[in-house]
Amino acid sequence: MARGKKGKRAEICVYCDRVAVTRDHVPPKAIFPKPHPSTLVSVPCCRACNQAFSADDQYFSVTVPTRHDVEGNEGALQVMQTGLRGLFRPEAKGFRTAILSRLETVNLVTPSGIFLGEGLRTEVDYERLDRVVRRTVRGLYFREYHARLPKTTQISAMIDSSFNEAEVAARNGRDRVVDWLRECPPRVIQAGVFHYWHRLDNDSPENGAWLLVFYDRVWYLVTTASSERKQ
Ligand SMILES: [Zn+2]
Repeated sequence: MARGKKGKRAEICVYCDRVAVTRDHVPPKAIFPKPHPSTLVSVPCCRACNQAFSADDQYFSVTVPTRHDVEGNEGALQVMQTGLRGLFRPEAKGFRTAILSRLETVNLVTPSGIFLGEGLRTEVDYERLDRVVRRTVRGLYFREYHARLPKTTQISAMIDSSFNEAEVAARNGRDRVVDWLRECPPRVIQAGVFHYWHRLDNDSPENGAWLLVFYDRVWYLVTTASSERKQ
């Protein structure tokens, strides 16, 4: 067992086996408008993991609030403005180039075919967003159960930003998992910014389902599963 100063048992990073020296926010702190609420979730983290996450967190906090379907969400608007200001600082040159090189001009057309003019779209790196979401679930699991999900746990994230609360309620069949998750009240970290539901298999808590909602509009359904096959 690792021990830190004064023989006190040191905390272990939620994501690896190193000694934790800092805290990692899940979801990333940057997705919350300032001033940050006191309800943010942070978990023990080592320096190496923390540094490895920072570029993904920055990408997530610039990409998700700027989705067209998040428009009108006040928290997202504020985060987007902060993110864009950060993007134009000299030290963000590499990141800026990466974002701008993915921008392209598209024609905006309504579903009925009315031309609205030109807009900008960016090719989204979904794998990068998924990485942040998978890590967020590891962190939230630790928050809920004060235990780490095994490193071998398979976590898969599926984005579905095409619906809102009312649409979710109206859907059935393939959303049975979503309905099942939503039978209990959600954990709200900040209203309008982030809330989530989750349920675990009582016999095997490594297996579970999570529903993460960003800005009331960007939904992620995440499943966790043991990689060990049961007989
Ligand atoms: Zn670590």
